[in-house]
Amino acid sequence: MWTKVIINIKKFNENLKSIRNRIGKDRLICVPVKSDAYGHGMQQIAEACIKAGVYCLGIAAVSEGVELRKNGIKAPILLFSQPHPDEIPQIINENLTPFISDMEFASILSKQVDETNRKFAEIMGDAAKRTKLPVHIKIDTGMGRIGCRLEDDEYLALARFIDSSTGLKLAGIATHFAVSDSTAKSDIEYTKKQLECFTNAVEAVRAAGIDPGIIHAANSGAIILHPDSWLDMVRPGILLYGCKTAEENEINTHGSLLERAEQIKKLSEYSVISVEPVMELRSSVSLIKKIKEGESVSYGRSWTADKDTYIGILPVGYADGLPRLASNKWQITINGEKFPVIGRICMNQCCVDLGADPKVKRWDEAVIFGSGAENAAALAEVTSTIPYEITCNAGKRVQKVFI
Ligand SMILES: *Cc1c(COP(=O)(O)O)cnc(C)c1O
Repeated sequence: MWTKVIINIKKFNENLKSIRNRIGKDRLICVPVKSDAYGHGMQQIAEACIKAGVYCLGIAAVSEGVELRKNGIKAPILLFSQPHPDEIPQIINENLTPFISDMEFASILSKQVDETNRKFAEIMGDAAKRTKLPVHIKIDTGMGRIGCRLEDDEYLALARFIDSSTGLKLAGIATHFAVSDSTAKSDIEYTKKQLECFTNAVEAVRAAGIDPGIIHAANSGAIILHPDSWLDMVRPGILLYGCKTAEENEINTHGSLLERAEQIKKLSEYSVISVEPVMELRSSVSLIKKIKEGESVSYGRSWTADKDTYIGILPVGYADGLPRLASNKWQITINGEKFPVIGRICMNQCCVDLGADPKVKRWDEAVIFGSGAENAAALAEVTSTIPYEITCNAGKRVQKVFI
């Protein structure tokens, strides 16, 4: 099948530079490469990251970390999701850095690291060096997902436990924002509140005489809208893949005059981020044929020709990343011109109306989504989802070409 996703590594690097310019040269960057780098190809994106001096990578599944290590990635790898105890041996073997949300898991993990070190020492004798597994404490400051709650200072108990354990090393403390990409006043305040709770917790750990390691919170939305949250390290996902989910200047339309002035001043200290989509989904016109007035196209007969016309059939459908919800709603670009998707999008085929006198020729290349107005974010908009889901799905089945 000729359908493919084009992954533009050069654009990825430029997006990375734009983020780097905004956050300054001293902060670390953790790039989420989970879910095959949002459909962009985990290994290739990881290699581009390492080349560009990214500090660490973020994954969602232990198996992703195993694969990255197998393919030579030596940088720290943060495990964003809660693993199953059965996966602990792999976490230890591959030196992955899990988020710790609770004492139960911390103690199972610590015991297994101790046990591994003990067995290692049995074989190696005195030459065996004790190694500690780096972990980050995850605090739930309002995302309501993984992470320990703030009540009862559980994070402090965790920090003490890890700090005094023989198997674990506290390498960082993290939280995650729920609405950081929203410019609504209440959401701005919610994010500020999350950040305040987080920094207070970190201070409490410091006050207990424990080095908290790398402090990090900001996802893409917070990189754009909340400079206070950048801390030691940022974790930009969708922004790096070229989709800007908020604009810096939108925040200025909220709050009192003084609050606004303060925000404008703060945000204007930093460069504005400009990014471009890294992924393009392309296909080709595999057949052109004549349709007569009154004839219907595709399943469900949701589109009927109101005059004689030509249709183009493309070997791309919902299983290839063009959502079925885009049926009769999207436009496909061929030779720089847009043609409406007509009738239901099928699993692996769709149709466009080429008009009565088509200039398009068979085998011409077609852009399903890419840069400009026909990007993943616009496709997400018409299908009531988010660009993350669009790129993840397009990356699943279709061949990737890296340029
Ligand atoms: C996926 C993820 C991110 C990146 O989020 P974006 O909105 O894509 O920037 C950051 N942190 C954690 C913990 C994540 O799971």
